[in-house]
Amino acid sequence: MRRVYCVGRNYAAHAMEMGHDPNREAPFFFQKNPENLLLPGLPFPYPALSENVHHEVECYVALNHGGTEIDVNDALGCVYGYGVSVDFTRRDIQDEAKAKSRPWEMAKAFEHSAPISAIARAEDIGHPSKGSVSLSRNGQKVQHGDLSQMIWKVPEIIAELSRYVTLAPGDIILTGTPSGVGPVNRGDRITCEIETIAKLAFDVI
Ligand code: MN
Repeated sequence: MRRVYCVGRNYAAHAMEMGHDPNREAPFFFQKNPENLLLPGLPFPYPALSENVHHEVECYVALNHGGTEIDVNDALGCVYGYGVSVDFTRRDIQDEAKAKSRPWEMAKAFEHSAPISAIARAEDIGHPSKGSVSLSRNGQKVQHGDLSQMIWKVPEIIAELSRYVTLAPGDIILTGTPSGVGPVNRGDRITCEIETIAKLAFDVI
């Protein structure tokens, strides 16, 4: 992987649960490090310096073409495939950062903070614009949404992000989480699924 980008507040119900206006405004982005990805089959080690680590299940997009100022009509041509991921967040550190108008990196870009499934290739599955997105904790479904609820769709995300940075093969983009985010604890079993795309399961240790 080259770079890991994430979209903030891309589902209205999640924006509202975090206390924000759900109306459509330009998407905003932050990054994790490629080394923060946690590959399938590995457990998620509970990170240091937080007592409130939240799960955010997200569809991710993997690129095999890039560029700058990509036209929205050309954007899907950059997509190699899709998968399911978790944008783990040290919510207590993020809350402090928000309150002090400080950057989010230490809340978002920590070790193993982005478990990801294998990539489902677009040439095999197409470009799904609907399908359920869910996360279960110890067998109880706590996050549930649908790809169709994304405020900014994948082509719009790619086009907008490419106005800020040069996208390139190997970049992945986490496209935001539906509502129902919440804490995890050591010993939890987490299972995630995006209908027609991918599944992922791991333990919190
Ligand atoms: Mn997120």
